[in-house]
Amino acid sequence: LGPTVTVGEILVEIMATTVGAGFLAPQPLVGPFASGAPAIFIDQVARFGGAAGIVAAVGADDFGTLNVERLRADGVDVSAIAVIPGKPTGSAFVRYRADGSRDFVYNIAHSAAGDTTMTNAARALIARAGHVHVMGSAFAIRGIGDLLLEAVASVRARGGSVSFDPNIRKELAQDGEGRKLVDDMLAVTDLLLPSGDELLVAAREATEEAAVERLLGLGIGEVVLKRGSAGSSHFSRDSGRIDCPAFAVEEIDPTGAGDCFGATYLTGRRAGLPPAHALLYANAAGACAVNRQGPMEGVSSRQALDQFIAAAGREVG
Ligand code: ADP
Repeated sequence: LGPTVTVGEILVEIMATTVGAGFLAPQPLVGPFASGAPAIFIDQVARFGGAAGIVAAVGADDFGTLNVERLRADGVDVSAIAVIPGKPTGSAFVRYRADGSRDFVYNIAHSAAGDTTMTNAARALIARAGHVHVMGSAFAIRGIGDLLLEAVASVRARGGSVSFDPNIRKELAQDGEGRKLVDDMLAVTDLLLPSGDELLVAAREATEEAAVERLLGLGIGEVVLKRGSAGSSHFSRDSGRIDCPAFAVEEIDPTGAGDCFGATYLTGRRAGLPPAHALLYANAAGACAVNRQGPMEGVSSRQALDQFIAAAGREVG
């Protein structure tokens, strides 16, 4: 089947270089770096060797060009990235607090990303797609949610598959619109990629076991839970539970770890790897992502991950 496709925001990230300092005074920054969770995801799909494309919109500016050329160089089909005159490419200024948490100044909703529409190029890419990846956060941007749902319907109608990373704010997923969106997505998802308590929130259950049981009961084939520095777990009816410990690395920048993890797992599975093997690659990809500064700078080729796994003395267990 055809490429893995996603729809979502593309932006640049500009980061503070000193931990603890706010943006209240001039200070050394580093960037711009190519970013946007869907862009990081799709870049990692391509770097791991999968066919990949993204529907998105950028401004006619250097920030847009930087992103498009980076994705193109890494092998992503950029034919459905529209250039919107008169709107800037989105940006995020990031600073790090002493406790390791981050604080953002965003310009995304009012950026070119808010003008993402179903262009002819987008329609053509979606018509060829064999898989669509959906990020909960992308629904926050005007227009993108509708395109994602159209892409999901189109790909499923042709026998393709769907993955869902419900990285939607907990408050949004409790009730109302946000909740309906999560429920609608769960009904059509083949691979669910929650992190932390998103598993419990998505399933509306109090324990991991009950949550997994409910989600597999809905017909979701695989649930892969991201546990940060504690690694990950895979749940399915076929193979039960498979745990994969994290690789020991220094966490330099957590941005993009979950996206690199999910993209690698999905692409491994689409290439025919068994779950345990795809999971090992995914943990390696997440570790490499946190170990590098910059949102998209920690993406890894399959060859690089093979070397990383071998150097750590790990094998598919
Ligand atoms: P998300 O970014 O979606 O919240 P996680 O933070 O759980 O996702 O990260 C995804 C994966 O990346 C984890 O399951 C793990 O394999 C890897 N990872 C994340 N943080 C670390 C870390 N500090 N050390 C090693 N691996 C990590």
